[in-house]
Amino acid sequence: MNVERVANKLGITKERFEGLQETIIKRSGWPEPHLFRFEKPATGIEAGTIVFDNGEIVFGYPKIKRAMMLGPAIKRQFSGTVAVEEKMNGYNVRVASIDGEVYALTRGGFICPFSTEVARDLIDPHLFEDNPHMVLCGEMVGPENPYVPKDIYPIESIEFYLFDVSTKNCSQLKGVYATHRIAKEYGIACTPLLGEFRAECATQRIMEIIRQLGKKGREGVIIKDVENKVSPLKYTSSQSNCSDLEFAFRYYNDYANDFFMSRVVREGFQAAEWDESPEEMKERALRLGESILLPLTATIRGKMRNEQIVQQSQFRVKSIQTARDFEQHLRRSGTKAVFDMPEADGDGYIVRILKLVMSTNDKTQAVIDGQPW
Ligand code: ATP
Ligand code: MG
Repeated sequence: MNVERVANKLGITKERFEGLQETIIKRSGWPEPHLFRFEKPATGIEAGTIVFDNGEIVFGYPKIKRAMMLGPAIKRQFSGTVAVEEKMNGYNVRVASIDGEVYALTRGGFICPFSTEVARDLIDPHLFEDNPHMVLCGEMVGPENPYVPKDIYPIESIEFYLFDVSTKNCSQLKGVYATHRIAKEYGIACTPLLGEFRAECATQRIMEIIRQLGKKGREGVIIKDVENKVSPLKYTSSQSNCSDLEFAFRYYNDYANDFFMSRVVREGFQAAEWDESPEEMKERALRLGESILLPLTATIRGKMRNEQIVQQSQFRVKSIQTARDFEQHLRRSGTKAVFDMPEADGDGYIVRILKLVMSTNDKTQAVIDGQPW
């Protein structure tokens, strides 16, 4: 690897690249190919940026800011035409071809063995033969998903939805039109384009879209400048905010307080901006309250019956080795999980896993036993 050239492509000096290796840049020696990853952001470089040993760089996917007050946020950010895409709820991967092999990379900059198998299965290999430098950014979505299982989409197992395209060694994203064109050309699923609006009239239309998505339990939208001149914004439905709360309150002691706080505050701003009737407010308050209290009591009562509090999920693999590699991948990223024996099914295997939520288990037990908070 030519460090000088890599540093140059990253927009930093060789000395800085070497200096960052103590704190921000971490080495990953498994699985192959070996790489350096930015565990945290550094000046102008996103967290999750990867430098492979062959010197190729896959930049981190940029953070997307959230609109809290939809109208004012749109007005402040956009001027021309905006494209409104569905924000699909799964996990972010970047897919790239390195030395002729396709890999799926997690947000944090690891090669994920499971996602890699899925990407190789779902993405037409001609895409990387024709475009060896292309990087696909997309969401892995569906019920058989070890990270974010959701059955709110008409997906049987797991699907890859493309939402952005970039090129190795370049942090620039290619924008909405190029992304949808490539998805069409290679028959890849892509996050739905729900409409294109002038920025001045977008707010009302997006509110209506969010109401409709919310009714179906879907997450929300990403609002993108069609000319890709300014960064996108995200905005989510009340049902999705509450479904996040409903999930997290089951494991209340394993989530940061800000996870809860930020979602409750979103509900406040949305209710205020949407100028709801007293009945609509009541409905929202009930939804919010239930998403807090019902999972909490379910957890506490479960523990009172001596049950273990766990997060269950399952996924499908083509080869047993992928399941083993994924187990190792979870372990090295610090997640404690128990894997069942893979069960043969169709042309592959179903793997069931239990993620342990030790902190919530211990805390709940202690409080049940009378420990003060
Ligand atoms: P971020 O730092 O990007 O905000 P986060 O983990 O807080 O990350 P989210 O709140 O889920 O993420 O929102 C951003 C993420 O939404 C993106 O990183 C991407 O994985 C996902 N996403 C889903 N659909 C789209 C889409 N149509 N366009 C862009 N991103 C999308
Ligand atoms: Mg997400």
